[in-house]
Amino acid sequence: MENNYLLNTHYQFELPPLPYAYDALEPYIDTLTMQLHHDRHFQTYVDNLNAALKDHPDYQSWSLEKLLRNINWLPEEIRTTVKNNAGGVFNHAFYFSNLAPPGTVLSESLAMAINATFGSYEAFQKEFKTKALSVFGSGYAWLVLDRDRGLRIITTANQDTPLALNLCPIMQIDVWEHAYYLKHYNVRADYIDDWFHIVNLDQASKNYAHCLAEIE
Ligand code: MN
Repeated sequence: MENNYLLNTHYQFELPPLPYAYDALEPYIDTLTMQLHHDRHFQTYVDNLNAALKDHPDYQSWSLEKLLRNINWLPEEIRTTVKNNAGGVFNHAFYFSNLAPPGTVLSESLAMAINATFGSYEAFQKEFKTKALSVFGSGYAWLVLDRDRGLRIITTANQDTPLALNLCPIMQIDVWEHAYYLKHYNVRADYIDDWFHIVNLDQASKNYAHCLAEIE
């Protein structure tokens, strides 16, 4: 599977490097937030996932994708911990690899699908922002492709993932406060507006093509 989401990797999981400089997303996301979010928060999910699997060799060969899609097959004593931390690893790998300095562009096929579904890119942004604001507490908003090849905006709580819902992710925003509090304080709306400048539309377009191919 073409990705840098670690989906094909297994125990021991490793923190992937940030695919750009820590200050690359300034002024939309500040350097210190990127350092703490990637080097500490993301690292903690990696460490906790490895710790959960340390004494369970039967599951150490399971890829991240297999763990996320088969949570209910895991022994009860590690099920919740693996769900939260495998989810945290996937969601953060997705988040960081789907950001980029301004200048990325939508493919024609994704632009057309967004226009057909939401009316225009501006209308999509408005709906995405409303959904991202509606997340109560910690979680994510996503643009996903469903099994009928339809685009949908969904939200997930905590470290739940669209994979567990059999939905294929195209875009995602992390709306946990650790993603924005230092710069945007409690004003999630401003962070969402800034995120639209640095969401990686080249990568979203690749994700869309990949999601379409996966359904066929
Ligand atoms: Mn986060």
